[in-house]
Amino acid sequence: MSLLDEPTNSFDAALQELGFRSSQLDLSLSAGQIVSLRRFLQDLSRYNEHTNLVARSDFLTLVKDHVTDSLSVASVITSTGLARQQNLKVMDIGAGAGFPGIVLAVVLEDLLLDLVDSVGKKTCFLNQVVQSLELSHRVSVHNARAEVLARQSHFRAKFDLSTARAVGSLDLISELAVPFLRVGGKLIAQKSTKQYAQEIEDSQYALSLLGAQVSGVYPLDRTILGKERVIVMIEKIKETPEQFPRSTAQIARGSLSKRKV
Ligand code: SAM
Repeated sequence: MSLLDEPTNSFDAALQELGFRSSQLDLSLSAGQIVSLRRFLQDLSRYNEHTNLVARSDFLTLVKDHVTDSLSVASVITSTGLARQQNLKVMDIGAGAGFPGIVLAVVLEDLLLDLVDSVGKKTCFLNQVVQSLELSHRVSVHNARAEVLARQSHFRAKFDLSTARAVGSLDLISELAVPFLRVGGKLIAQKSTKQYAQEIEDSQYALSLLGAQVSGVYPLDRTILGKERVIVMIEKIKETPEQFPRSTAQIARGSLSKRKV
């Protein structure tokens, strides 16, 4: 069922769910922020009717599967003190339908966000949302490959934070994200509890090449997210050599960790 066909009471149930989950994550959303999230989900559901962006677009699924997961990123940005920095510059790689990027923009109103995705129908939707939620003064959308954008001087080493939800393994997203970060900047990676330790081990070589290291692991409450998740924080500790990220073709040939460069 599409969100647009849903009866008002299921809207209300999902809005209640949204309020409940955000308070469990220690985020108190204002009425205006809830209205913005609701508009975002309505826009997504409407767009999804003709252009596939998410598998299921009923309001409750969007709240449970995507918004809550994105709010967990906001909660770590807040609880670790990162949000105290004014105008934190954030690059969301593989932004897709706007998770976590659009949710972060709505709930953390001081962030400056760049959203990049290589698929035009996704960035077209994101541009519509940015207009509809009046976010254009602090959110920019780029239809590009992250590894190409990260080589441009305007973007390279310019960000305090990067996110990349459901884009790939830790070594892949590190290769895409770390070049965007200034030294001291952080990548927030959302990972399953089962896989994260192996992924950290597998990415050690890549991280050493990129000039980064794991700086923290934050377990998330299963009862809030409905699944086992952790956030792995990667910190850039020195400048990334110019040859990274590799070209799209080289990246497609295999993970950085497994290659001798
Ligand atoms: N982050 C969103 C989410 O969690 O719903 C989307 C996840 S989707 C599975 C992965 C997205 O990453 C896709 O929209 C894809 O187009 C994008 N993507 C993958 N590789 C990319 C790259 N190298 N540069 C830019 N976007 C990329």
